[in-house]
Amino acid sequence: MSLDHFAHEPGVHVEGHRQIAEGWVRAGIFGVSDGLVTNVSLILGFAGASPGAHVVRLAGLAGLVAGGFSMATGEYLSMRAQKELLEYEIDVERRSIAASPEAERVELRDIFTERGIEEELADRLARDLMRDPDLALRTHAREELGVDPSATGTPVLAAVASLIAFAVGAFVPLIPWLLPGVAHAVWWSVACGGFGAAVVGGAIGWFAKRGVVRWALRQVGVAAVAASVTFLVGHLVGA
Ligand SMILES: [Zn+2]
Repeated sequence: MSLDHFAHEPGVHVEGHRQIAEGWVRAGIFGVSDGLVTNVSLILGFAGASPGAHVVRLAGLAGLVAGGFSMATGEYLSMRAQKELLEYEIDVERRSIAASPEAERVELRDIFTERGIEEELADRLARDLMRDPDLALRTHAREELGVDPSATGTPVLAAVASLIAFAVGAFVPLIPWLLPGVAHAVWWSVACGGFGAAVVGGAIGWFAKRGVVRWALRQVGVAAVAASVTFLVGHLVGA
């Protein structure tokens, strides 16, 4: 979600609730996807130079931790900025309701009539809602900003969730390197990565209501390209 969504322009609607719920699912799936693609590539990049299992293992773990925290800080900062912007806008609304309740009442009535509510009823609704300052603020925030003043997001939770999501994805191609005595760990890693990519791609397709198989294949293809390039680079540089 970009900050543009919250630009203070008349008529801008952000559909807070739907975006928050969808945002969580999307962030989760894409976090897993990021972790998977990043670490499949990183692991194969190192494996391409055949430096021994312990080096690959270390690189994979470092990739998991570094990537996870990078995702978490990015998520935290963007959510924090969003939240502060929203809270600023809500505060503007709160002050406006206190300072010029008449103008705000008329504004609310006009919003209702624009929505197709009959003028007399819209007027009564607006008068009733404006009587309770709390209810008035909630209604204005919802109608004008598309948010509930008490639900402007939880940056820390979002950060922790994206850290976990990334770590889950990054862990998958690392599994063969962590188990003792796995022969051909590179190929097992490729297999785990491919399987994980298919599951993540399928999930994206399912949530987006697009083809599950098509998205599974697309995700596997993208991961395969990224992994092949880093494998080649690792092979050439490491040789
Ligand atoms: Zn207002």
